[in-house]
Amino acid sequence: MTALHSQESLNAYYTENLLAWYRRGNRSLPWRMNRDPYRIWISEIMLQQTRVETVIPYFNRFMDKFPTVEALANAPEEEVLKAWEGLGYYSRARNLQAAARELVQDYDGVMPNDPEAVRGLKGIGPYTAGAILSIAYERPEPAVDGNVMRVLSRFFLLEDDIAKPSARVKIEKLARSLIPEGGAGDFNQGLMELGATVCTPKSPHCLTCPVMERCGARLEGRVDELPVKSKAKPPRPEARVAALAFDDAGRVLIRRRPESGLLAGLWELPHALLPAGSKEGAPTASLPVPAGAPGYPAADAAALAAELAAADGLRLVPEAWLTDAEHTFSHLRWDMRVFRSRLAPGAGAALPPGYAWMAAGEEALYPFPNLFVKLLQAFGPSAFVR
Ligand code: SF4
Repeated sequence: MTALHSQESLNAYYTENLLAWYRRGNRSLPWRMNRDPYRIWISEIMLQQTRVETVIPYFNRFMDKFPTVEALANAPEEEVLKAWEGLGYYSRARNLQAAARELVQDYDGVMPNDPEAVRGLKGIGPYTAGAILSIAYERPEPAVDGNVMRVLSRFFLLEDDIAKPSARVKIEKLARSLIPEGGAGDFNQGLMELGATVCTPKSPHCLTCPVMERCGARLEGRVDELPVKSKAKPPRPEARVAALAFDDAGRVLIRRRPESGLLAGLWELPHALLPAGSKEGAPTASLPVPAGAPGYPAADAAALAAELAAADGLRLVPEAWLTDAEHTFSHLRWDMRVFRSRLAPGAGAALPPGYAWMAAGEEALYPFPNLFVKLLQAFGPSAFVR
């Protein structure tokens, strides 16, 4: 048999067995109940960087709240962000709404059956476009993400570094060549299903795998070596100080983030980046530590007051160290020291622009990133009125 024929036969074996396996039975997931492109689109965006079990309740709530493209396009942005609260990567939610508005304006609210048009929508990259077009419209488009790169690298013994764009291009070409006529949606979902349930990153279940007989990595004992992936740079740490400030009515001071950039449009506790080298060691006592007591990180408290005054004109008095918290983004880590604080006497009744007081029970009105959801659950106004 020539090399070309053996490659063709390997490809045909893969396609046939994967498709048959997927069609014999697969996980019942809420976005699989029909082939509505809107549901597929929302689910694929939610599933980026997020586990299926986490996504299911978010997806169901999101569909109840925004059942159509029009409902999503017309919703206040804050409601969309609130529905996304806890999922992270909030630009996904903002892009979803921007794309929903494009769909209403340019496509009568219907996802176009056209690769170029779908890829042109905000927040839709090649993977998501491939998933929507293949599952909803049976277009023979590949949908290649990290999972698919892993399963194909193992089966076809590909040694390219999947962190590099050239590997993605190569694997997309391979995946496109494997798609069977009339079975694009099931085939792509089969690849995703195999990566999620059988050919998992660690300890894959080769003995139950539908393509084990001809899997290169298994036959050569190299399952643990593949895929090749160079390590990403570790997140850059940033030392930050935050204020948990209450007024006499027990309301907590919060601030809205700018319209663009990291966590755009979300609410947070006021906080500031510490000038380089100013963070003291971890406080030694448990909370609360009165100002001046051993373990009270006085320089950090002073930096908090100074930075918020300089940035926002907020006059604040940190009173006691409350806790330390951490939040990791893909490229960045916030190491945050939180101080219980109050406004300085004579600070005036008017708050700086973008600031608000939040009373107990008002949390549902404001979308917060996870770090602040946790801090407010532990120390916010509702923590004391349960
Ligand atoms: S045999 Fe093992 S390594 Fe190969 S595709 Fe199946 S699960 Fe993955």
